[in-house]
Amino acid sequence: MVGHVILFPFMAQGHITPFIALTELLHRRWPELTITIINTPRNIQSIQSSFPDPIPTIRFRSLPFSPSDHGLPPNTESLAGLPFPQFLYLLIASESLRPQFTQLLHQIITEDGGRVPSCIISDNFLSWTVDIAEKLNIFHSTLITSGTYGTAIAFTLWLHMPKLPAIETQYLSLPDFPEINIHWSQLPRRLFLPDDNFASKYSSFLQRQTLLCFKSNAILLNTVKEFETAGLRMLEKLITGVPLFPIGPLLCQSSPPPSSSLSLSLSLSLSSSSSCVEWLDKHSPGTVLYISFGSQNSINASQMMELAAGLEASEKAFIWVIRPPFGVDVTGEFKLDQWLPEGFEERMREKKQGLLVHAWAPQVEILAHESTSAFLSHCGWNSVLESLSHGVPIIGWPLGAEQFYNSMFLEEVGVCVELGRGNREKMSGIKVERERVKKVVEMVMGGGEKGVEMKKKAMEISGMIRGALMEVDIDGGLGSSLHGLDEFCNLVFSKLD
Ligand code: UDP
Repeated sequence: MVGHVILFPFMAQGHITPFIALTELLHRRWPELTITIINTPRNIQSIQSSFPDPIPTIRFRSLPFSPSDHGLPPNTESLAGLPFPQFLYLLIASESLRPQFTQLLHQIITEDGGRVPSCIISDNFLSWTVDIAEKLNIFHSTLITSGTYGTAIAFTLWLHMPKLPAIETQYLSLPDFPEINIHWSQLPRRLFLPDDNFASKYSSFLQRQTLLCFKSNAILLNTVKEFETAGLRMLEKLITGVPLFPIGPLLCQSSPPPSSSLSLSLSLSLSSSSSCVEWLDKHSPGTVLYISFGSQNSINASQMMELAAGLEASEKAFIWVIRPPFGVDVTGEFKLDQWLPEGFEERMREKKQGLLVHAWAPQVEILAHESTSAFLSHCGWNSVLESLSHGVPIIGWPLGAEQFYNSMFLEEVGVCVELGRGNREKMSGIKVERERVKKVVEMVMGGGEKGVEMKKKAMEISGMIRGALMEVDIDGGLGSSLHGLDEFCNLVFSKLD
């Protein structure tokens, strides 16, 4: 297939990774297709590093971006580790890229002898690109990087904000899905505060992008039809008249560390990362718990203490990616002696029970390792897909956004037990104490009925997820997501004829 596709991910690791995977997938299927990935300079550098051998048909273009013009710390081009007000600044800053993006598109068209690209695929946080595509007569598609169940719930909340009676009752029946009840601790409560400047800017950003996303010519979904049948139906109810194409799982072999102010801590982490696999090699199959809260967030200091104490008491082996607790400057020094029980790191090392990795670990390699038994995760969608594609069940501790609904969905499916919720005690529905940590870890990893069932289900889903991108799936046909991608491309190119 000859054509030119422009890819534009949002500036956050969890969004960039699926776009890199989509690039790889498109290139594998149609090597002659030209693909241009657009982003801010540091992100482009990091994305480019995922393609160490230059491929002539894959191109990288930077948009000029000055973080300090938007109130962001120097070199900040990613959500990783950003505290809340600055989180919003980055969202707003991403919208201000409109003139630079338009100019770059014109430049690309001129360089291509006046030929317009066949298609723009932008992140759903960058749905403002839909108007630009329309003006230039380019097919526009949005890639939603999260799961469909979580996205459908997040969309319905965003579209109704700030009008919901959020706090008075324990449970809220969702406007578009009255059959689903959300507990108050699963709501983005801050966004419902009346007269809160931050809240109104944040919610109007989310509403704007969501409504624009609905104007796309097509929507691509980072999921698998057979796995998320219910979520898909929910999205179809919300988004009418736009074709939806599940094309996941969009997974990479490894994820580059985010380009962010976290880099100071990351330089500390690199030597320890390489030792993770060696450490796992020394453990028996199915005996190690992997713990990570993703690229952006972390639990708070007292939760870290309880988690550490519970892990120690469980006597189960673990690898824990430690980031500064919630509310502590991520660029600052690592103070493990203050964040963890006295002598914890040393004891864990001596007993060979636990490996603490600073800030960033080779997650996919860890999940793929036969020693890994379960994943204590914040239920970010990439982590979910990475875990389940390797048949690793999940202990959930969602911290924000649609992670609450991902965890809920995974519990329903039978591959997750929720241990904690949120990192602000007052807002959290579940208080995490050491006894509970020990109990849940033992339930999932201790060889009992629940753990065995979860593992069985996770293995079943692994087959489902992997089959979706196979040239020949278990029934001898094209995997459902490859089929979806083919249908999407047929639609794009039929519009061009
Ligand atoms: N990741 C990693 N090492 C880490 C932490 C995260 O490689 O120490 C990767 C992880 O494999 C995943 C991404 O970062 O691909 C995190 O995305 P997710 O959607 O799970 O969560 P987010 O960071 O967006 O909250």
